[in-house]
Amino acid sequence: MRIVTWGFGAMGRGIAKNVIESKFMKLVGVIDKNPEFIGKDVGELLGLGNYGVRVRDSIDVIEETNPDLVVIATSSFVKDVLPQIEYAVKNHANVITIAEEMAFPFDSHPEESFYMDSLAKRYGVTILGTGVNPGFVLDTLIIALTGVCTRVDKIVAKRINDLSPFGKTVMETQGVGTTPQQFEEGLKKGTIVGHIGFPQSIAMIARALGWNITKIEEERKPIISNVYRETPVVKVEPGMVAGCNHSAKAYVGDKCVIELYHPQQIHPHLEGVETGDYIEIYGDININLSIKPEIPGGKATIAIATNMIPIVMSAQPGLKCMADLPVPRSILSFTR
Ligand code: NAD
Repeated sequence: MRIVTWGFGAMGRGIAKNVIESKFMKLVGVIDKNPEFIGKDVGELLGLGNYGVRVRDSIDVIEETNPDLVVIATSSFVKDVLPQIEYAVKNHANVITIAEEMAFPFDSHPEESFYMDSLAKRYGVTILGTGVNPGFVLDTLIIALTGVCTRVDKIVAKRINDLSPFGKTVMETQGVGTTPQQFEEGLKKGTIVGHIGFPQSIAMIARALGWNITKIEEERKPIISNVYRETPVVKVEPGMVAGCNHSAKAYVGDKCVIELYHPQQIHPHLEGVETGDYIEIYGDININLSIKPEIPGGKATIAIATNMIPIVMSAQPGLKCMADLPVPRSILSFTR
């Protein structure tokens, strides 16, 4: 399988490395606009030695290399990735994107979704949005767990995670490294959004369970650091914002049926916070799942984007979500 990665940031470079190291995929092109990477050999940038593919800031890479699939890891938003998806699909390439809004764009972006679905069907390819979350922990995994319930009344889930592995894009949208005042201003301006994906995860669960969600309430609070924290892309002095405590509640009429909590910050252990993923399902049976520590967000996103490649390649054409496709599984550990 011939793969192009579009975006060579924290996630894109991990996906590129997985593709290079897999036995049955070939990385044929990499697109990124960052001048630090342009013109450099991808293998050299990944510390793997010369690979013979250079990072380019040109969409022509897709037409020239004719990939089977393009992995897009450039942005969180449908408006940004739509032109990239459109270009890839028009060049007959399947698409996997980790843009959070693409995990389930059908309700939040109905017109764009209809367009992408029609386009994919016309060109006989599949488009999928995935990632650790949205894409797995607070939606796909929950839906899978409901498979052993006869009746589900309510879902409560929490992902307490470490943002440290993520790149600049994620830090900016979470408000990491801002002052509390800048955080509030960023929320008002819409430059700080907290977790991107609650409406998508809720809509994916609701469609799977046949629930008609009538209202979603979201709350975003700054996580103010008491200690100095630092990652390769951001520095946080005491008194500054280390992350965003974001939650969402979804209702059917006046009954709250889904509660999702997602406090995200860099280096939570520096203040004694343990990470973890917790899912509680209430119905004819009650399920209580704890995963401690959290499923690591960076590694898991890189893995699931890679693992979905063969599944997307053999899926029916159209715009899909994770709940439409076979159960994800690790592909790089295959021994035959
Ligand atoms: P990053 O900032 O480290 O990397 C983004 C890269 O894309 C950068 O190198 C940038 O130069 C490049 N880029 C952006 N726009 C481009 C364009 N138009 N053309 C070419 N290159 C372009 O971010 P990251 O940590 O790698 O994450 C990438 C995106 O994926 C973010 O929006 C992030 O929120 C999202 N994400 C989603 C999940 C999920 O679970 N669904 C998980 C992790 C990251």
